[in-house]
Amino acid sequence: MRYEDVMRLALERGFYAPSCEIYSDAPAGFWDYGPLGVALRNRFIDLWRRELIRRDDMIEIDGSQIMSKSVFVASGHLESFADPIVSCMKCRLTLRVDRLISEKTGKIIPERMAVEDYDRLLKEHDVRCPRCGGGLGGVSMFNMMFKVRVGAGGEDAYLRPETCQSIFVDFPRLFKVMRGKLPFPVAQFGKSFRNEISPRQSLIRLREFYQAEIEVFFNPKYAIDAQKFEEVRDYRLKLALGEGVEEVSCIDAVERGLIPNRLISYYLALIQQFYEKAGVDMGRFRVRRLGEEEKAFYAETAFDVEVETSLGWIELVACNYRTDYDLKGHSRVSKEDMEVMDGGEKIIPHVFELSMGVDRSIYCIMEHAYHREDGRDVLKLKPALAPIQVGVFPLVNRDELPRKAREIYNSLKKDFQAFYDESGSIGRRYRRQDEIGVPVCVTVDYDTLRDDTVTLRDRDSMKQIRIDIPKLASRLNDLYRGEDALQL
Ligand SMILES: [Zn+2]
Repeated sequence: MRYEDVMRLALERGFYAPSCEIYSDAPAGFWDYGPLGVALRNRFIDLWRRELIRRDDMIEIDGSQIMSKSVFVASGHLESFADPIVSCMKCRLTLRVDRLISEKTGKIIPERMAVEDYDRLLKEHDVRCPRCGGGLGGVSMFNMMFKVRVGAGGEDAYLRPETCQSIFVDFPRLFKVMRGKLPFPVAQFGKSFRNEISPRQSLIRLREFYQAEIEVFFNPKYAIDAQKFEEVRDYRLKLALGEGVEEVSCIDAVERGLIPNRLISYYLALIQQFYEKAGVDMGRFRVRRLGEEEKAFYAETAFDVEVETSLGWIELVACNYRTDYDLKGHSRVSKEDMEVMDGGEKIIPHVFELSMGVDRSIYCIMEHAYHREDGRDVLKLKPALAPIQVGVFPLVNRDELPRKAREIYNSLKKDFQAFYDESGSIGRRYRRQDEIGVPVCVTVDYDTLRDDTVTLRDRDSMKQIRIDIPKLASRLNDLYRGEDALQL
């Protein structure tokens, strides 16, 4: 389905909506999750914890969102976290220069070029204001950090632009108290803030957003233990090469020099497997190595995990080899010793990160899952991600049926996110659950009163079976522990 269809679903069924929408001064780029959105996001993070954190024995922290100015002096963000902007001289609209040129030319324009080069490109392609057609002024750099003033004295501090800075500044204590040894992966799920020039497309480009980040601290001399790599050695990564996507095994990708080392290959495999389990259409998935000018300022090598949607290819995870850039920077500014012992020597660990955009991942999963078929709209979410896990209905709203259905609902909701509905025709009730991705529905009918069985209906195939009520909970448990739709 298209972006507009997903947006309608999100607004009408309570997945997400613009923040402060009743006010005309609501700033763009801020969105609220509704009940179904919160549930979907929580399940997405549960899956991330299962498939990455627990699978790889990572630790998780939760850092504060406001951080000291020194952090961003050390990280380089105060100096380098800036986007090129240009303003229309007629209507004053401010725009991102790289995107403006790339929309006009259809080419990828790097985020980091000299200001003069942007000026030259604007002239060369005769780019004008997309809103009023007016001429554009000179290009300048705009820092995207949100500054805040702390306490009555008004000390400068900043909302973090990436969650990982908390992990870097906490690293010495974490390594000590957790009795760490390299490689040492640390994860965090939380909010970050970027004062984007032109936020747009709801969850795709936000000013306040969720990240799920993993920072793997390692010794570049002995990147990964062989046993871990064995798990993924023959797993085929979907690498963007030339015009298309080629499936290359993790080991071949390293041996052909497409990926710098086994540790990076291993974590790219984990993240690809995660998205497969989250229900992303793997025919529209790729891992793309970035060119020199596309990379973030701290990255030596970078890969983007990208998914194709009706809006084009969307970057979901930035996988950056940050070397010892961050720990060295924090060590220099804070004077804290960031060295650790490894292999008999003191080193500053290197970092490989998997920096995931949670909100945009949720958008892409919704778009890929949303189908219109046989006169119905159906959100084919993986059961593990379904915001509501089971619907319970009486076939008709009379006799003993509602009482019996409520009894089943009350018992199921102790273990599952259940939903009870007795209004309207049964067909309409099924449709409403299909549209929000409820994997199975239980229906109580007159046979139920006689033999203690109910109908279990599968969302995707619409097939129905009869099942004994005492077996219902264990059948649902099997469904939600597994990864695929109910096989009826
Ligand atoms: Zn204009």
